[in-house]
Amino acid sequence: MTEMLPCDICGGLDACSVLQKDGGTYVRCAGCGFVYAWPRPDSVEDVNEEYFAQTLEEYVRASFSKKRQRRYRRALRRFAAFRGSGRLLEVGCNVGGFLKAARDLGWDPVGVEPVAPCARYGRQEFGLEIIPATLDRAELEAEIFDFAYSNAVFEHLPSPCSVMAEIARVLKPGGVVYTKTVNFDSYTREQLGATWKLLAPSGHLCLFNAETLSAVCRKAGLEVFRVESNGVRVRKGPFESLRKGAYSTLSRFTLRGDRIIVWARKPDRFPATHALCGGRERCRETPAGTKRGTKPIVSRTRRISTVISRDDRRQRMGDRPPLRTEKCRA
Ligand SMILES: [Zn+2]
Repeated sequence: MTEMLPCDICGGLDACSVLQKDGGTYVRCAGCGFVYAWPRPDSVEDVNEEYFAQTLEEYVRASFSKKRQRRYRRALRRFAAFRGSGRLLEVGCNVGGFLKAARDLGWDPVGVEPVAPCARYGRQEFGLEIIPATLDRAELEAEIFDFAYSNAVFEHLPSPCSVMAEIARVLKPGGVVYTKTVNFDSYTREQLGATWKLLAPSGHLCLFNAETLSAVCRKAGLEVFRVESNGVRVRKGPFESLRKGAYSTLSRFTLRGDRIIVWARKPDRFPATHALCGGRERCRETPAGTKRGTKPIVSRTRRISTVISRDDRRQRMGDRPPLRTEKCRA
């Protein structure tokens, strides 16, 4: 018998359909509000690799342009307070544009990039240290980085929690991780609906909001200390720039821009539960989607009219095997 893919954050199996596009479906976990694509493409890695290999030239042109390099340097200046010894990790560095900007500013950057042509380009053309692998296969030593960065990566991951756990493992105590990804709660989705190009179930497997991205960090034992949001698109029409400006300003306060950004710190005393399981696998010691002594992380889960019954789920799943079965050994 096949099973529904458990929610990566809380392990729940109850989910409701929230959006359908291009033959794919996004469902929302009834337990914690996490939105993810289900069913998944047969090989997520192949889909990602094919897409990024095809767009290599485009990424090279954009990543190393003067304008983009200036933007990266601006971002890096914001990270200066967390620089420590300067050891920086970028998860999913693509061709290495951000790594180059970091090196130019005196950081000691390392990237991991599973799409081989992208990793090779950064290494060969700019001599950047890019490991051609996913983070869990990069075999990095524990507690060696002061700062970890990922931009437009977490939406592609089959299991964001296991990646965040690995980031937590390689961060030094006191080290900081900055994660920027697609915001499901954005005004843009509300206005453009399924036509918003960032809604793409075949490639963007996970869609977060402030609560669920924070939950991923907390589950890895990290302390969230800042949440931000930016970027808005609006329908074309009268007062377009005025509307865009208003939504853009509003999104900074409501956290409903196109991108959600969470800053989290590894505490000096890393939780023993995560030390036991190595932070690599599902850990049920932390109650589903909650942090001890706090209210449940999702307070804004909306009611969804289309509920997938267990029978429907089995029908949709066909003969697909469950995609993830790992359990905490702790
Ligand atoms: Zn959940």
